[in-house]
Amino acid sequence: MIALLLALAALVSPQPAREAPARTSAAGGAVVVARPRVTRRFIPLTQQRRRDTAAYARRHYGLDTTTVTPHVIVEHWTQTDSVDATYYIFAPNVPDAELHERPGTCSQFVIARSGRIFQLTPVTFLCRHTVGLNWAAIGIEHVGFSDGEVLGNRAQMDASLRLTRWLRCTYEIPVRDVIGHAESLSSPFHRERVASLRQQTHDDFQPTAMNRYRERLRAAGDCPRPPARLRGTQAAPGRTGPS
Ligand SMILES: [Zn+2]
Repeated sequence: MIALLLALAALVSPQPAREAPARTSAAGGAVVVARPRVTRRFIPLTQQRRRDTAAYARRHYGLDTTTVTPHVIVEHWTQTDSVDATYYIFAPNVPDAELHERPGTCSQFVIARSGRIFQLTPVTFLCRHTVGLNWAAIGIEHVGFSDGEVLGNRAQMDASLRLTRWLRCTYEIPVRDVIGHAESLSSPFHRERVASLRQQTHDDFQPTAMNRYRERLRAAGDCPRPPARLRGTQAAPGRTGPS
């Protein structure tokens, strides 16, 4: 019911979709991991796009929502040459070239080669960037054409690690659930009701690259407290996502 109300609220509200609550410290204060500087450049979230997003969530996940329940962060590269090119692929609400369905594809963030971070939707607006994981994943695109290009770009990687660390500490996402698009099928949060899409993935950010990425993410430092789902052995609420 709450999910339905949130979905309805998202449909009728001119405001950005309601975002999942961020964690607070034991004292009730704000999380101490600094949010990196982010430039907002939202794609148009029209009523039609919100309706298409809700229909997508129902069709693929059996959920009545346009909001992500954040358990995973998926790293991508764009196969485009600029933030502009990426923005203009995501902005129109048209069927994508590969799977031919609406809403149009998007990711919540894209990072330029310069290291400048752009936010394209509210953090937890449900975007189509990774089949099987869109209900649970925040997507970060990196302008570029290969794992090696992004990993070798210091400015872009520094920004990526700062953004990912802020997101994972805010939403209590362990490092192991920071994955590359190419690792999507092995995520414990992968769900897909459309049988023909259950093995669908892409080859951006392979395990070898992501092992290096996760190493650097760990080196960037722990979150102020251990993620809640690592405290005690049975918490793992995310492991019981939609079926
Ligand atoms: Zn991708």
